[in-house]
Order: sequence, then structure tokens, then C-alpha cells
Amino acid sequence: MRYPVLEINVGKIRDNAARIKELLRQAGIPRLVGVAKGTCGHPAVVRAMLDGGVDAIGDSRVQNLERLRQAGISCEMVLLRAPGPSQVARAVEVADVSLGSDPGLFALLGKEAERRGKLHRVILMVDMGDLREGVWPDEAPEVARKIRNIPGLVLWGIGTNMACYGGVIPTREKMQALLEVKEEIEDAIGSPIEVVSGGNSANMGMVLARDVPEGITELRVGESILLGTEAVRRDRIPGCHRDAFKLKAEVIEVLSKPSKPVGEIGQDAFGRIPVYEDLGIRRRAIAATGRQDVDPESLYPVDPGIRIVGASSDHLILDVTEAENPVHPGDVLEFLVQYGTLLRASTSAYVEKVVV
Ligand SMILES: *Cc1c(COP(=O)(O)O)cnc(C)c1O
Repeated sequence: MRYPVLEINVGKIRDNAARIKELLRQAGIPRLVGVAKGTCGHPAVVRAMLDGGVDAIGDSRVQNLERLRQAGISCEMVLLRAPGPSQVARAVEVADVSLGSDPGLFALLGKEAERRGKLHRVILMVDMGDLREGVWPDEAPEVARKIRNIPGLVLWGIGTNMACYGGVIPTREKMQALLEVKEEIEDAIGSPIEVVSGGNSANMGMVLARDVPEGITELRVGESILLGTEAVRRDRIPGCHRDAFKLKAEVIEVLSKPSKPVGEIGQDAFGRIPVYEDLGIRRRAIAATGRQDVDPESLYPVDPGIRIVGASSDHLILDVTEAENPVHPGDVLEFLVQYGTLLRASTSAYVEKVVV
């Protein structure tokens, strides 16, 4: 085995997908899009999501959807980030549905779909206050009318995405406001729209509370399926596995050293001026991974006595003084991950992905 390793337990991902699908059903949401971007569109992860019963697969990057098509996966695919002009051709090629907000870019998408003799379905994103993508609600009917007039496109629905930039929590009121936008659009275009895509893993709180207004037809869920947590407070979702992914790294040094650096303090490798508490002499280990592969703030040693004290690009520094199992050079240490590390480990070419 070549370390560091990102171990992917596909059985646990399948279980989580099935559990989230069931929770959505109980909350009256008929459709679940499983979002794969946290793993760069890993085909084994996506097959596990499909086995668990997701209705379609979503990813924000065209490359990841292409990777899945090349792996022979033929399910419905949703492109979650609007394609730019350089990507419309590939978007129409691999995706069945695209999210977006700009009429000009939608026009390019429509032209490409027409050229290929296809009808491409689009979801108009509406910004309900989080200030990432989406048109402002009062502009939505006018933009919807424009999209309706673009040959090659079908205005399949509307959607919103919250808790990503602004940290704004998707509440029942926000969902009701989105449903009002839907009605205004239907009045403006004179026909019903099918899909109301209510959000992401930050919406799992309202799902668990069964507090979703009628009319929300789908959620696009990544984190909750992959990591078993909801995305507002990072609470664990009852019945979901928290450990479908594990990061494993080799220990290359274990020594007793002071906890406070010795000498004048300037910037660290990332331009920060570090501050350290003096805890005296501690037993410290270095694991052979670092910020290039992991996000130390979203990495959790499985041994509860081990604490991460810092990281440079290629060295992860651990306090192992209170480790339950003594740590030696050459040992392999295990960590649970949150989203930041999942994304970075998936992206890093230095991390071996091992499916179990
Ligand atoms: C990433 C993303 C999602 C999934 O987010 P999670 O928090 O991982 O569930 C859903 N919709 C859009 C538009 C996204 O970009």
C-alpha cells in the first residue's frame, strides 16, 4: 500500500444514500440528486449512491461528469455549476440538466443543444439571500420568460442553494418564499414548471424535523450521503455512517520536544504568525501528509488521545503524549474526515484512493 490513503467504504455510502432517500420520502420530497463533487466524481462512490437509490447524480464540474461517463455510468446527470462559454459544448454532451442564472449563458447552452438536435433541461437558480449564485427573486419571472424563448432548452424548474457563501440557513420561510417565486414564474410564462430544487445538505435539518413545505420536489445532497452530517451545525444524521471515508498516513518521526517553538517567531509556511501554548515537553509524532492532501481543521484522529497541533504542506504534526495506543515510527494512523479534507484528499494526486 502507498500512503497516504483515502479509504472509501462503498457499502457505508450506499447505506447513507438509502437512509437520506428514505428521510426525504418521509418529508414529502420525491427526488434525491446525489452530489459527487466532494470525491471529484469518483465512479465507485457514484455507483454506491445509485445502489442506495438516488435518482440522479450531480456535480459542479464538467470534468467530474465526464469521468463518470467514461467509467460507463449512464444515469441522469445534473451539472450544478453553470457552464461558462468554454464549457457549454461539453456540458450538453455529458449533462442532462444544468443549473444556471444568466440568460446569455443559457442562450449559448441552447444554441449548442440545438446544434446537436437535443433538448437540454435547465434549472433557474434563485438567490434566496445566501449571495452565491442565482437571480434575485423579483427578477426571476423575467429571466424565466427569456429562458422559455431559447430553442434547445426546457425550463425544467427553479432551485436555490444556501449555507454555502453567506452561511444563510434554509428555513421553512425561505422554502415558502421559493415556492412563491415558482408561482410568479408560472403566472409569467403561463404554464407549470415541474421541479423545485430546494437545496443541499444544509436542508437536512428541516427534513429531519419533517418541516418541508409541500411543493419542494428535490434536494441535491452531497455531504450528508458522503459524511453522514448535515451542513448547518455539522450534526450527525441519525442512522447514517460517519466513517465512510478514512484517511490513513504513515508516522515518520516520534520524539519528545517542547510544545513551544524555540527562538524568535516569524511567519510560518503559510504566512501566519503562529501562537503556541507552553505545555512543557510533549511526545510528538509527524505523519507523512500535509496541507497539500488534507485540511488539518477537518481531520480527526481515530485515537481520541491524539491531537493535531499543526501542519505544513507535507508534514502533519501530532501530540501523541496521551495516545491510547503508543505511536511508533512506521505506524499507520487513521483519521476521520470532514468536507475540507475529503475534497483535498480526493483532489490530491499524492493520496491513494482505496475502495473497500
Ligand atoms: C455542492 C452543491 C450541492 C451539494 O452540497 P452538499 O452540502 O454537499 O450537500 C448542491 N447544490 C449545489 C448547487 C452545489 O454546488
